[in-house]
Amino acid sequence: MPDAPAQRWLVEHEQESVQRLCEWLRIPSISTDPTYQPDVRRAAEWAREQLAEAGLQAQLIDIGDPPGSGHPIVLATSAGRGPHVLFYGHYDVQPVDPVDLWDSPPFEPVIKPSVPGGPGERIVARGACDDKGQVMMFLEALRAWRETSGAPAGGVRITVLLEGEEESGSANLEAFLRANRARFADCDICLISDTSMLDRGRPAITYGVRGLVYNQVTLHGPDQDLHSGLWGGRCPNPNNELVKILAQLWDERRRVTIPGFYDDVRDLSPQERTAWRDLGVDPAAALRAIGLPPESDIGEQGFSSVEREWARPTAELNGIVGGYTGAGAKTVIPSRAMAKVSFRLVADQDPQAIETAFRQWLRDRTPPGCRWEFASFGTSRGVTVATDSPFLSAAKRAISGATGIEPALIKTGGSIPVAAMLKEQLGVETIFMGFGLDDDRVHSPNEKFELDCFRAGARAHAAMIAEILAMK
Ligand SMILES: [Zn+2]
Repeated sequence: MPDAPAQRWLVEHEQESVQRLCEWLRIPSISTDPTYQPDVRRAAEWAREQLAEAGLQAQLIDIGDPPGSGHPIVLATSAGRGPHVLFYGHYDVQPVDPVDLWDSPPFEPVIKPSVPGGPGERIVARGACDDKGQVMMFLEALRAWRETSGAPAGGVRITVLLEGEEESGSANLEAFLRANRARFADCDICLISDTSMLDRGRPAITYGVRGLVYNQVTLHGPDQDLHSGLWGGRCPNPNNELVKILAQLWDERRRVTIPGFYDDVRDLSPQERTAWRDLGVDPAAALRAIGLPPESDIGEQGFSSVEREWARPTAELNGIVGGYTGAGAKTVIPSRAMAKVSFRLVADQDPQAIETAFRQWLRDRTPPGCRWEFASFGTSRGVTVATDSPFLSAAKRAISGATGIEPALIKTGGSIPVAAMLKEQLGVETIFMGFGLDDDRVHSPNEKFELDCFRAGARAHAAMIAEILAMK
């Protein structure tokens, strides 16, 4: 195998790989908090150096409006032959609060030994998995190829794009991609490693992510808060009206009632249903892990838990605020009530159409004398990758070769907006080959990345480079 020297290098230099990851994890690159701005830049600079050491042409690009107001993009390229591969990841991290729930300081990475029947040997730190650890698998694979073949990325044509605003909403990414279309126009495939395996020892390729529509809706009633004794029963109470309306979002089969909501939903094929059933995912065990009994396996009728997560759209109330919520009693009719409502979408639902239909559905139910105010937190399309693409077959071979285990083909209920942007702006398909675990506590205290996952991921990415080389 042409990647054998790179694979050997990864094994022999594993300690240094882990140390390098720890070095990166010590930089608190929290993108959403302006006080960490110099640290975010330092984390970008650190990644740029790694890429330069792997032989790529690497630079930081200031983005935002005005330019430089955003966190820089790390962009690196290598000349070569064969298909042009784009690798996307992010170097920023989530905030660490509540910090007192961490067993060790979030930016002082520690290696913890494996627990029998529990997690394996692991690095604990903010960003250990999401996304520095997962990006580091690829950076180390690039380093291994450079060290053993002399050529950057072993001679494959690569563009690496590392973003510093993923955890704060990727506000400037779409504009950057549009303005830099020429740099990415001839990319043949994108690799993203920000996803999970099916379970420990069960590597996976994710071939679908869901889309998202997220709105804040406010129902305005009287122009002032009112005494509920004097006014109760005499005028609309926005709290009462809002919950009555939102309760109509689902029917008795737990299907969303907005007209046209399911029109563009792609049906599950019988083959897909069988394949997913055969993965043997245990919904009762998953429920147990969140403190619920097996009878809590509820959702849209006619679909299994996995099908509901991977192939069916949902409506969720993520927050409701209205009236008096402080300590003790205050008999008030509030002048307004607010809810945050999100929809996870599947192929081929159009987020704009769903948002429009949702707002119209609310307007059709406006209580007398009341009015709506809407705000959007952005939308993204779902993405489904063709499972018969040559790149997906290459990724399967790379993972089986590196781990000895045939990867499962799975989807995720989450959303990765950049994949939709790449598809829409540039027509580039994405393959998600990530090595996280569902219990990695990403975004939570004690985030971790297991060393077995890190090893498998680095090896699989090194093997993927050999696969791409062979494709010419
Ligand atoms: Zn994240």
